Amino acid sequence: MGPKRSCRGMDKIRKIIHIDMDAFYASVEQRDRPELKGKPVIVGGDPNGRGVVAACSYEARTFGIHSAMASSIAYKRCPHAIFLKPRFDTYKSVSADIREIFCEYTDLVEPLSLDEAFLDVTQNKKGMPSATRIAREILEKIYDKSRGLTASAGVSFNKFLAKIASDFNKPRGITVVTPDDAADFIDRLPIRKFFGVGKVTEGKMHTLGIKTGDDLKKIDKEKLINIFGKNGHYFYNIARGIDHRPVEPEWIRKSIGKETTFREDIDDKTQMLEILGQLSVKIENLLKIDGRKGTTITLKVKYFDFQCITRSVTVREPIVDADTIMRYIQALLDNTEAGMKKVRLLGVSVSNFIDASRTVKKYRQLPLPFSAEIRSDSLARSLIVED
Ligand SMILES: [Mg+2]
Repeated sequence: MGPKRSCRGMDKIRKIIHIDMDAFYASVEQRDRPELKGKPVIVGGDPNGRGVVAACSYEARTFGIHSAMASSIAYKRCPHAIFLKPRFDTYKSVSADIREIFCEYTDLVEPLSLDEAFLDVTQNKKGMPSATRIAREILEKIYDKSRGLTASAGVSFNKFLAKIASDFNKPRGITVVTPDDAADFIDRLPIRKFFGVGKVTEGKMHTLGIKTGDDLKKIDKEKLINIFGKNGHYFYNIARGIDHRPVEPEWIRKSIGKETTFREDIDDKTQMLEILGQLSVKIENLLKIDGRKGTTITLKVKYFDFQCITRSVTVREPIVDADTIMRYIQALLDNTEAGMKKVRLLGVSVSNFIDASRTVKKYRQLPLPFSAEIRSDSLARSLIVED
């Protein structure tokens, strides 16, 4: 970091844990209905409808089924699978139990979804020096408290590595990446495993001959920035194991968002703008209720083929009203293939709230003009919290 010393203690090696429940929704179903144990269980949309797989058991995965896949395709791959509607209330209550366990160790907990969270345990409430030990304890407590659900953990010195590590040895795995292991670990990592690399970016990387972390490291910074814009910086850094993003608890980082899935795909842009306008009004109301102003607007578009993209813009003037949101959303929409491609879902969210001093600081680090700020693909997506 050079002479610019961080005010958040980044000069110290951090201890970050990423916890991820194993096949969460499906495991809850198998727990509550023991007759489903050992069977391919798929939680999500109706296999005869347009829904998608929200989660599936490990038995279902052996048929090539994965989350976000259309339920109809999952059905074709495994007609004897058991399809269940999600029971979000149950999942939420398990999620709350798990969060309580996290908070026994630290208040720096950043949930990514109901079943996933980052924990910063550099300084923890129990004064435990070993993050690995903490991770092991947490997994045991989760198992006991949730009556048999399992989770995996990644332990490292930043979010990027912890997140990848938790996925490395699933289910019930703990993977530790120390500063000494990091270079080796990243060098061998297939590029699609990189946090923030979606299908589109993976394709781009492959055309550049980038297949592993080692390949990525060989590309110079300017070239990466030319190709990936602002994300180029991110890729340059993570190839070297550098990721200073702090673990941000919900009380610091939040977004307000709304989205709509259509009964039938649409390709009429006027209709899209109408719907986005309605979503923006809802967001304006929510912003008012919370007394918040945000500086980042994000448009989410899911195309007919389930490809999902986001476009974001960060602006100088905090946003409070639907008309302003729509002004930017319109420009963002023009920066997508919506209309040329049919669309099945549209979403709008506002984030980067200015009521916390650190958010303001973050905004100052991004003083780019509107057009240069538009960013795309899964990196943006992965950084956005949806409601
Ligand atoms: Mg999970």
